Amino acid sequence: MKEMLAGALALTLLSHALAADDALQVSRAGTRAVMTASAQHFTGEVKVEMLHTPASAQRASAGSVSFSPGARTAWHSHPLGQTLIVTAGVGRVQRWGGSVEEIRAGDVVRIAPGVKHWHGAASGSAMTHIAITEALDGKTADWQELVSDAQYGEARPAGAPPTSPQAAAQPTRAQALLGDVAPKLAQLTDDVLFGDVWARPGLSPRDRSLVTVSALIALSRPDQLRSHLARALDNGVSKDEISEALTHLAFYAGWPNAISAAGVAREVFVNRP
Ligand code: MN
Repeated sequence: MKEMLAGALALTLLSHALAADDALQVSRAGTRAVMTASAQHFTGEVKVEMLHTPASAQRASAGSVSFSPGARTAWHSHPLGQTLIVTAGVGRVQRWGGSVEEIRAGDVVRIAPGVKHWHGAASGSAMTHIAITEALDGKTADWQELVSDAQYGEARPAGAPPTSPQAAAQPTRAQALLGDVAPKLAQLTDDVLFGDVWARPGLSPRDRSLVTVSALIALSRPDQLRSHLARALDNGVSKDEISEALTHLAFYAGWPNAISAAGVAREVFVNRP
């Protein structure tokens, strides 16, 4: 009896071992191939990491697509539509005939079947999204013409005032702040700090904001703190959390630093709902 039980147990273990590969798979971070997207269908530097490739009866694919600042897809449509989950940075999406929507980490975009559209990074920031797309008869997209610089240049966040072609390239905050005295520093601020470091997926924009605000409180940098507090609220840090960070930092960064920062926070909070 004991032997029979042991035999049955061994069989059970064996059958589980045989099915284990299919039953549950973990694809480890950093082990998947990252490919450069085709210049035929994309403008600028775009990297694609396929997260899921459909097998047998499956139709849905998932890929993480990283756009460098200014990079974007061509105009295209999907026979069964598409869902985009923005995981880092700031980007843009537009349907044919519609206005440009600014999209940020955490936003989810649903594009209906057959709707002509493009998506990509903002001009001053990289953007990464996960694209979930279902195939119809093996096809996931119908590609059309590239989004021209003029079309992309006309793109602006919804609600922003229209710009003339000459003014289409609006100065970034860094260009406005120091472009006249230190143009290279402004460029590095836009391209390297905000376009690359801030857009890296290793920390969420919210966490980066909390880290940055904490450093600026500790260093007593009211000018930079002012703009980064506003950015932190944009990135999903709540007023209560900022207030808690101020209190916490009083013990690590010094009472006077926290008190001064509280004054800056009051100014920023007053202008925010
Ligand atoms: Mn699409």
